[in-house]
Amino acid sequence: MTATRTPGVPAIDEGSLISTNPATGEEVGRFPVASTDSLTAAVARARDAAAWWAGLGFSGRKQRLLAFRSVLTNRLEELAALMNREGGKPRADALVEAIAAVDHIAWAAQRARKVLGRRRVGSSLLLKEHAAFLEYLPLGVVGVIGPWNYPILTPMGSIAYALAAGNAVVFKPSEYTPAVGQWFVDRFNEVVPEHAVLQIVYGLGDVGAALCRSGVDKIAFTGSTATGKKVMAVAAESLTPVLLECGGKDAMVVAADADLDEAASACVWGGLTNAGQTCVGIERVYVAEPIFDDFLNRVVARAAKLTVGAEPSSDIGPITMPSQIEIIRRHIEDALTRGGRAVLGGAEAVQPPFVNPTILVDVPEDAAAVQEETFGPTLTVTRVRDAAEGVRLANSTGYGLGGAIFSKSQGLNLARQVRSGMTSVNSALTFAGMPALPFGGVGNSGFGRIHGDDGLREFTRPKSIVKRRAPSLLAATTFDRTEKTISQMLRVVRLVHGRSK
Ligand code: NDP
Repeated sequence: MTATRTPGVPAIDEGSLISTNPATGEEVGRFPVASTDSLTAAVARARDAAAWWAGLGFSGRKQRLLAFRSVLTNRLEELAALMNREGGKPRADALVEAIAAVDHIAWAAQRARKVLGRRRVGSSLLLKEHAAFLEYLPLGVVGVIGPWNYPILTPMGSIAYALAAGNAVVFKPSEYTPAVGQWFVDRFNEVVPEHAVLQIVYGLGDVGAALCRSGVDKIAFTGSTATGKKVMAVAAESLTPVLLECGGKDAMVVAADADLDEAASACVWGGLTNAGQTCVGIERVYVAEPIFDDFLNRVVARAAKLTVGAEPSSDIGPITMPSQIEIIRRHIEDALTRGGRAVLGGAEAVQPPFVNPTILVDVPEDAAAVQEETFGPTLTVTRVRDAAEGVRLANSTGYGLGGAIFSKSQGLNLARQVRSGMTSVNSALTFAGMPALPFGGVGNSGFGRIHGDDGLREFTRPKSIVKRRAPSLLAATTFDRTEKTISQMLRVVRLVHGRSK
């Protein structure tokens, strides 16, 4: 039965989580809320599945993950339509997100053996007759907790890498996007029907908390910093390791020698794509004095042209989570009260469930719009003396997720000075779509990495094995050693390490 409910507010009814379209309130689907018993059973099934999945080896897993990737690729339009219906995401944004997720699955599947497979490593001074081997073994069962804003790309950053590394996964999607989660988990299970290698559990935050207590071998959490702290506190009870991908307040710094049109285009897209509901979205822009006015005019001209609405073809869709609208409104009003000016949008831009693009200038650095995650289609644009001052201000919040630099001559140098996990030079957000690059933050943005070689290793434990391959040359590690052995040891160590050069 299709009912119309309060737009975007997930409800629980007779044990089912009901997700709704954030613009229309149309019911998108009903999903059984996991009880503690069903969660325990899911983790037990995952444990059995993990042994089978690990036993397939790199090539068996690669073949299945690549088949999963192909199924998703051939049904991208269907997935994008569902993402639009459940999260309000415009079709083009949904496709870009889903394509990036597909690319990550393929990369993780193809790369896993090279990064994690057994290799011989160097021996040591007193143990020359031993061979040393290193490999990265799966942890077992990984619990993945995901947010709603990128309902496939974000969880896949953990899921694909955990699976490629040989783990089974129990996934708890955000209560705002269970249908998208169910859709891709169903596709995986069509390709891998034998065992419960990838399962999904539905519910509110308490189900996420129960997953943290369920005995999984690692929790990969993506969401707000506040919830990340709760996850870590619960995981500490059982010393369950955690990976925390939390919020951000990313800045773009535009140097005087930047290509202004490219910079304005990237700034508007990086700040306003997905209605600004992007963990690595540009929220603050610091612009060198000589080009400030020219740059601002270009940004405003571009942002003013964007279409806002529920249609899949809109540039900017609705705010997915209704409670976020009040935060966006507070940030805008606080900025205006404290001397800021809206050169586009402003307080009247907030028209639930939509927020029109809003560009703020002259906002004090300690205002909420500069310090706190806004998660809406707003940008603060601030005049700075030069790029160095821009970088200093970019580094002045507790977050440290991503960011961007625009400069023709100093890009790489400035990028290295930004205190964050990722920085793009002369583009925005592009690091998120590069499977080879690790993704994650510092400070309030969390720790640990998804994507890249580090993202594969994150879901493993290094296993070190030493195998004796010949009788001891120098019997140092036995009580059979003699004074002669000791003097030989000393001679060898002085020869190798005793000289200063
Ligand atoms: P939340 O922190 O509200 O929720 C994230 C997930 O945690 C949801 O599945 C949520 O379930 C679950 N959860 C809630 N309470 C608990 C709990 N006590 N224990 C365990 N799990 C719990 O974040 P949002 O969904 O609102 O996502 C937006 C945030 O995510 C932003 O801050 C954004 O910056 C960040 N983000 C970070 C990314 C990164 O890679 N660094 C990428 C994308 C987003 P439920 O929804 O049912 O409450």
